[in-house]
Amino acid sequence: MSYEKIDEYMLDKYPKKVYRKRAKSVLPNDPAEPGEIQANVRTIPGIITQRGCTYAGCKGVILGPTRDIVNITHGPIGCGFYSWLTRRNQTRPESDKAENFIPYCFSTDMQDSNIVFGGEAKLKEAIQEAYDMFHPKAIAVFSTCPVGLIGDDVHAASKEMKAKFGDCNVFGFSCEGYKGVSQSAGHHIANNQIFKHVVGLDDTRSDSKFRVNLLGEYNIGGDGFVIDELFERCGIEIVSTFSGNSTIGAFENSHTADLNLIMCHRSINYVADMMEKKYGIPWLKVNFIGTEATSKSLRRLGEYFEDEELIAKIEAVIVEEEVKVKAELDLIKPNTKGKTTMLFVGASRAHHYQELFNELGMETLAAGYEFAHRDDYEGRRVIPNIKVDADSRNIEELHIEKDEAKYSQKLQDKKAALEAKGVEFSDYDGIMVEMEKGSLVIDDISHYEMEKLIDMYKPSIFCAGIKEKFAVQKMGIPLKQLHSYDYGGPYAGYKGAVNFYKDIDRMVNTKVWSLIKAPWATGAAMNASFVKVS
Ligand code: SF4
Repeated sequence: MSYEKIDEYMLDKYPKKVYRKRAKSVLPNDPAEPGEIQANVRTIPGIITQRGCTYAGCKGVILGPTRDIVNITHGPIGCGFYSWLTRRNQTRPESDKAENFIPYCFSTDMQDSNIVFGGEAKLKEAIQEAYDMFHPKAIAVFSTCPVGLIGDDVHAASKEMKAKFGDCNVFGFSCEGYKGVSQSAGHHIANNQIFKHVVGLDDTRSDSKFRVNLLGEYNIGGDGFVIDELFERCGIEIVSTFSGNSTIGAFENSHTADLNLIMCHRSINYVADMMEKKYGIPWLKVNFIGTEATSKSLRRLGEYFEDEELIAKIEAVIVEEEVKVKAELDLIKPNTKGKTTMLFVGASRAHHYQELFNELGMETLAAGYEFAHRDDYEGRRVIPNIKVDADSRNIEELHIEKDEAKYSQKLQDKKAALEAKGVEFSDYDGIMVEMEKGSLVIDDISHYEMEKLIDMYKPSIFCAGIKEKFAVQKMGIPLKQLHSYDYGGPYAGYKGAVNFYKDIDRMVNTKVWSLIKAPWATGAAMNASFVKVS
C-alpha cells in the first residue's frame, strides 16, 4: 500500500493541525525497521473514535468476566448499561446454585440530588443491599465521571463496609471515564487494585506439577474453555485466568503459580510484572489464536517445564489436532486464498487474528489498535524511550517490593538458566515485525479514515467492533466483530481455528453484499427543485 496514496486521499483532507497530529499515527510498515508510531495520546476532539472510556476498561474489560464478585457501578445508569455483558464473556459456575453475577447489572443509579448533595450515602446503601441479598465473597465499586467530579470517596466507603461485614472483601476503583486517553488506563487501574486487594491472600498450593496463570484471556465466546481443555489434556493446571471464567478465589491464589502466560499484552502486562517483582514468577508472551501460534505456545510450555513426559503429551496433542485442522483448511483455503482483510480492534486481537488470516492465505492490508501503547506496536524494547505524559502520570504506579516469605528464588534461577539457553522471557516484539512490508499500521483509527480506507482498497472483510459494524456493511463490505465474535466462536486453539476458517469463508464468499445498492447508486433517486412560495 503506497503511503502517498493514503496521504493524498485520506490525511490531507484534514485541517492542517489535525493532519499534523494524525499523520504521526499512520505508518507504512517495515518489519525490518519498525518506525516510531504515535500511540496512547488523546483523540482529537470532533473525531469519531473506536475507543471506550477508562471506566469501560476497568469494569467492562477486566472485572466484567469475574463471576463471583458483585461489580457495582457508582454512577448514572447509562454508564452501567454500557459495560453490562456486551463482550459475551462466558463463564461456568460449579453448579446451578453457585454464584454467578455476570448476568446482572449493579448500579447506584445516581440522580440529580446525588450529584448536588453527594452520593456516598447512596453507595453505602447499595453495598449493604448487595451484601444482604447475595452475601458475596467480594464487592467491587467502580467510579464513573460524575463520581470524580463531585468527589465521592469510593475507597473510604468500601473500607468502611468491608470492616462492617468482616466476611466480604470490598474494594474500589478510581476509574472515572475521563481518567486516561482510552480504556487502557482502566486496565491499569483494575490491575493495580486487584493486585493490592486480592492477589496473595490464599497460599494453598495444589500438588499438580505444572501450574500456570493465563493472563489477558477473557473467554469471549468460550475461547477460555477451549484453552482450559487443551491444557487439561497436556496435564497443565491453570491456577487462575485473568479474567475469563474467573473467580475471586482463583485471583487470591494466583501467586502460587510457577509461570504467567500473557495473551493480551496491553491489558495485563502490569499484573505479570508486579507478580514477578513480588513473588518471582517469570512470564512468557503466548498466543492461542491460530493453529501455528497455538502449537508454538504449547511447545514454549514444554520448554519451560523441561519435563519429558509433559513434552511428549504436548507433542501428541499437537500432532492429533494439526491433522484435523489441516483436513478442514485444505477444503477451505482455495475459497479464501488471495482475499484481503483490515483489522482495527483492541490491543493484541488485531495482531493475533492475523495468524488465522495468514493460514487462510489472506493478506492483511492494514491493522491497528484502539488503545495500545508504542510497545504493543514496536515491541517492549521501546519502553524506556516512551515519554511519560500527564495522562499516564494520572494513573497510580504501585511501588512493588519482594515478598520475602513468598518470593520464589527457585523460579528466578530456572528463568536465568533457560535464558542462558536462549529462551526469551518478559518480552513482546509487537505487531509491526509480523506485518508485511508496505502494509499500513494506524493507531486509534477514526471513522472517517476507516471509510476512506475501505473506499480505496475494498478489503474482502473488515474486522472491528459494534460501533463500526453497520457503517461498514452499508459500504458493501462484511464486518467481523472481534470483540464479541458476532455470536460466533470460540476462535481459540485448534477447534477455534476451524470455526474461524468456516465463518470467514462464509462471509467473504457470500454474494449478498454485492446485491445491496444504495438508492442513489441505482438511479432511482427523486429529482427536486426549490419553488419560491410567495
Ligand atoms: S465516559 Fe464517563 S459518563 Fe461516559 S460511560 Fe464512561 S464513565 Fe460513564
